[in-house]
Amino acid sequence: MAARLLDGAGLARTMRADLQPHVQEFTARVGRPPGLALVLVGDDPASHVYVGSKRTHGTEVGFRVDLHQRPATTSLEEVLDLVRSLNADPAIDGILVQSPLPAAMGSDAARRVFETIDPAKDVDGFTAENVGRLVQNREGLVACTPAGIIEMMEREGLTIAGTRAVVIGRSDIVGKPMALLLLHRHATVTIAHSKTPDLPAVCREADILVAAIGRAGFVTADFVKPGAVVIDVGMNRVTDEADVVRFFGEGSKRHLAWQQRGSVLMGDVHPRVEAVAGALTPVPGGVGPLTIAMLMKNTLTAALRRAG
Ligand code: NAP
Repeated sequence: MAARLLDGAGLARTMRADLQPHVQEFTARVGRPPGLALVLVGDDPASHVYVGSKRTHGTEVGFRVDLHQRPATTSLEEVLDLVRSLNADPAIDGILVQSPLPAAMGSDAARRVFETIDPAKDVDGFTAENVGRLVQNREGLVACTPAGIIEMMEREGLTIAGTRAVVIGRSDIVGKPMALLLLHRHATVTIAHSKTPDLPAVCREADILVAAIGRAGFVTADFVKPGAVVIDVGMNRVTDEADVVRFFGEGSKRHLAWQQRGSVLMGDVHPRVEAVAGALTPVPGGVGPLTIAMLMKNTLTAALRRAG
């Protein structure tokens, strides 16, 4: 039987609609809308798309959204100065510096930026203060992608407590916070990574399998316990026609899309997993829209806390 597809895009619309009255109430009470500052450095095309979407959705829910766009030649010190000025700006409640930063800024640029953002305005949940709060299961701002996944699982009535969960990927922005959120909801959690031996066998133990790897179609049907909930975080652009045909079949919808655009977006989960899993997030239309909806929720939360 085919897996139930979890409609992240639909749920994200519901989440944004749920936020709107709270944003209106905040604006009426405080005398200004919640303020979100987006910082975009360089010309990474995917980053431009993500930031554009964050700006559109933020404006739609009623935020003031300021986009600070800087060329790839901007120095790290200039970005840090911008962040410091946003920290000091009383009309700004949330600061998001889009990753990746240009490679020329150095390998520790992202860490330096996250060290500089005021934790009260850290709507990405990446500062050491907010990560520490998450580890201790205390109130704070939590990374949008894993927080959005939990929101979806809870709204969909999917059981977490008492399950076995496997998270593939141990990044600071997805894998680790995802594992902690599942742990705090009483799943028994394994974090797997590139050095995990016999990964398919480890994954087959999972009632909840989260794939956050960044490799198209990596999680095949033999990784999946029948009936498991499979969350596909991966966002991979496939440009090779042979790969598109291998994954989706000759003449499939995606193949036709590839013929028009020269690339298609797909997750880390192989399409044939749909026949084995109990529930599955599609790519696109699954985790991506939830991430942006969660950014809106974090911004409102930050605004409410700052306004007392
Ligand atoms: P990342 O920092 O590159 O981390 C990838 C993780 O995958 C690493 O922990 C790595 O293990 C692991 N990995 C790589 N190859 C592996 C293999 N062969 N077997 C097992 N594990 C392997 O990536 P990320 O930032 O977490 O993002 C992961 C994916 O999610 C990307 O496709 C990204 O675009 C996507 N993403 C989507 C959203 C969204 O809103 N939908 C948000 C964020 C990220 P090691 O640590 O051992 O190297």
